[in-house]
Amino acid sequence: AAKKDGKNTISYYARQMQSDSARNALVANDLPKALIEEQFELYFQPLYSSSGETVTALEALIRWNHPAVGLVSPGEFLPLAEEMGFMPKIDEWVLREACRCGKEFQETYNRNLRISVNLSTHFFTQSQFASRVFEALDATGLPYESLQIEITERHMLKNLEETKQLLTFLQTSGIGVALDDFGKGYSSLNYLRELPIQTLKLDASLIPDSLERSADVEFVHNIIKIAHLYQLKVVAEGIETSEQQQMLSTLGCNGLQGFWLARPASVDELKRRILTAS
Ligand code: C2E
Ligand code: MG
Ligand code: MG
Ligand code: MG
Repeated sequence: AAKKDGKNTISYYARQMQSDSARNALVANDLPKALIEEQFELYFQPLYSSSGETVTALEALIRWNHPAVGLVSPGEFLPLAEEMGFMPKIDEWVLREACRCGKEFQETYNRNLRISVNLSTHFFTQSQFASRVFEALDATGLPYESLQIEITERHMLKNLEETKQLLTFLQTSGIGVALDDFGKGYSSLNYLRELPIQTLKLDASLIPDSLERSADVEFVHNIIKIAHLYQLKVVAEGIETSEQQQMLSTLGCNGLQGFWLARPASVDELKRRILTAS
């Protein structure tokens, strides 16, 4: 029986691999058309104040509605898009669409929420980067102060001095800059001292499951304190329980984000459930 199970297991994985690679091939093949055929959609996930009571910002998160496969997550298609060289085009679309939506939320719902946009390294390192951002803001009429961009430590790899100048320039124009996914990968504590950023987003992997993990709690507490030494606002990502919400709020986080507070939502759902709430 063991042998038979083993064989079944192998063929299960073989089938799975085959369907995974078939799916990958389909997804890669159809990616070039997705932008032209308007299959991308922005979802928005609310960011809350430390009390968890007020929505302060909305993070734009891309989704791909594939006609055959259904919803494809960014974790799946963005690495492919990057390999295929589509990231600058996708970022350009995201930026424009996020600003357009942000302007609509302000006008129609009278909600002055900041819009936070993730940008790839490729887009960020183009020499035209700043003017592309200004163009999106000017074309849509979203105030400069209403936009925040999210970058990661990968954005620092090239030329740190140039990057610092660019970030300073953006902030002089009123645009906010957040360092995303801090604590995942090769994040350096030096970034907290050196980078002209306003906000630090703590990666979900830094958030302890419970207060019983006291060393982990002190660890994240000290990172928050270091960020505050340099006048950074701290947002905790990946809050999935009320215990985590309570903990991170007590530890001094300025903002909270996670499934416990709100999942990313389509614009329709956002209008029904978030924007119309008091
Ligand atoms: P990110 O910028 O760190 O975004 C947070 C991710 O965590 C989102 O996944 C969000 O749905 C998820 N998340 C939020 N709260 C929780 C939680 O409580 N628990 C868990 N397990 N997950 C939570 P998503 O939308 O799949 O995006 C994944 C990553 O893809 C993003 O990470 C970002 O790096 C990238 N990305 C997403 N949208 C865009 C985009 O429009 N442009 C670019 N360049 N990158 C994007
Ligand atoms: Mg982000
Ligand atoms: Mg993140
Ligand atoms: Mg990220």
